[in-house]
Amino acid sequence: MTWRDLLCGEPRARDIGRRLTLSGWAGHRRDHGGLVFIDLRDHTGICQLVVNPERAPAAAEEAHRVRAEFVLRAEGELVARAPDAVNPNIPTGEVELQVDTLEIVSRSEPLPFQLDEENVDEVLRLRYRWLDLRTDRMQRNLRISHTIVSAIRRSMEEQGFIDVWTPSMTKGTPEGARDFVVPVRLQPGRFFALAQAPQVFKQLFMIGGIDRYYQIATCWRDEDLRADRQFEFRQLDLELAFPTREDVLDVLERVVRDSFAVVGRTPPELPLRRLSYEEAMSRFGTDKPDLRFGLELEDATGLTRGSEFGVFAGAAEVGFIRVPQAFSRTELADLEETAKEWGAKGLAYLVYDQEGEIRSPIAKFLSEAELEAFRSEPGTTVLFAADERPIVRRVLGGLRTHLARELGLLDPERDELLWVVDFPLFQHDEDTGQWTFVHHPFTAPLPGQEELVESDPGNALSQHYDLVWNGWELGSGSIRIHDSDLQAAIFRTMGLSEEELRAKFGYLLEALRMGAPPHGGFALGLDRFIALLAGEPNIREIIAFPKVSSGGDPLTGAPTELPDELLRELGIQVLRQRD
Ligand code: ASP
Repeated sequence: MTWRDLLCGEPRARDIGRRLTLSGWAGHRRDHGGLVFIDLRDHTGICQLVVNPERAPAAAEEAHRVRAEFVLRAEGELVARAPDAVNPNIPTGEVELQVDTLEIVSRSEPLPFQLDEENVDEVLRLRYRWLDLRTDRMQRNLRISHTIVSAIRRSMEEQGFIDVWTPSMTKGTPEGARDFVVPVRLQPGRFFALAQAPQVFKQLFMIGGIDRYYQIATCWRDEDLRADRQFEFRQLDLELAFPTREDVLDVLERVVRDSFAVVGRTPPELPLRRLSYEEAMSRFGTDKPDLRFGLELEDATGLTRGSEFGVFAGAAEVGFIRVPQAFSRTELADLEETAKEWGAKGLAYLVYDQEGEIRSPIAKFLSEAELEAFRSEPGTTVLFAADERPIVRRVLGGLRTHLARELGLLDPERDELLWVVDFPLFQHDEDTGQWTFVHHPFTAPLPGQEELVESDPGNALSQHYDLVWNGWELGSGSIRIHDSDLQAAIFRTMGLSEEELRAKFGYLLEALRMGAPPHGGFALGLDRFIALLAGEPNIREIIAFPKVSSGGDPLTGAPTELPDELLRELGIQVLRQRD
């Protein structure tokens, strides 16, 4: 007894005349003048079964009972298809299995959706994920995902990194999200946090002499879910001892090159472009610029200082972009609504129509010098933002990417990867009024700026770098602080008392006092990277069992409530039941 001599996608003309057993799922079944045809499918493809009632009456009877997605085992002779029945679209299209015995191995209830159906509701797909996994799309995505992960592992190991495991259940790690927590039965009232990242552990590896660590690490972060965000996700996590910033970037560039190559995509030219945070923000209005198109931000603050147009004169900053399209009034009204979503109060514009004439309610207020500076080609609209600097950048940066999409300026064949470097070390936390980290508190300031950590935190730059691909942030990393005093200064600037500092990070400060080498590292968001390489818009498409945006899992029904007895054992009282 054998289940299969070949996989369904393997039979070829060279196998004609062989007796073969094949097993797989039943796809389309067609009855044709007594003959029954069934597409037998597995992950490698389809082989056509043909059952002739004269040759195999019992098999033919069984064939009539077959329904979609039944599991079958078929035994027979591989034969050539009649010339007019050859299907050039599939690799097995020249042959078919003339069935002698057909066994229904497993039945299927009627399906909630057909595997070749388009636009199936996503919740339904996830509810029946085991069926959805059988589709070409999911088969392709999970296999690409595997191929990329293998290439990354190879690349990392060739570069001398070793895979070391770190705990999932740990103490809160400051990565900017909320922790998921795990109650501990043996210590009621105490909780582990699920690691938001193995950040501190990988630093301890460097202090522990591991030298080059990597891991395909699962991370848990309690944040609102989006197309590119799940509660749990994987990252290529790495850390190296004695690196320069360029050493770290080089490791990642090799990983990117090897990952592109393994999926047959042209790798980007290396080294990748480096752009400072300030340049990214001033030219593109964002720290993850999409460089596949222009529409760069221009500054008019100096020029409009004494403008007769009050909105310009009174604004802290005035910026603009030139868009190669003479928009209509309705289009401009829509754009204004869009701009307001990013915080704009209105949207001033100058339209240069095809004749080069200006259409704009503000033109009459502008001086010759202003008009000269804004003058653009016929068929262009100049869009302005006048406000505080962060709002100007957010609005124009948002309009820039929005319009590139709307106007079809994105070349799907083009890939633009870059490094954004020299981020600020701290930012102001609106809620607490305190300084907080931009990356995480273990990030080192730029060399020579250590003093600023306490004297002028808002002006300190850091050795933090981000990898950006077509406007998506793929990951972040930094050179770390390896000096305990400097690390303590960072925590103090963040408003931690000596006591909190000891309670939360005492072990790290202690480790930093026992021979800590300079070190740095990175984490590449793997799900997003793979989704982009696979051409999928949503990371849920490359994750086998993702959660939906409400945070639940339609397949298992998780999360669920716990029985009272278990809660008691854990020392937990639930104050608010789910409605
Ligand atoms: N721990 C950081 C993160 O998960 C990455 C790093 O700095 O290496 O984003």
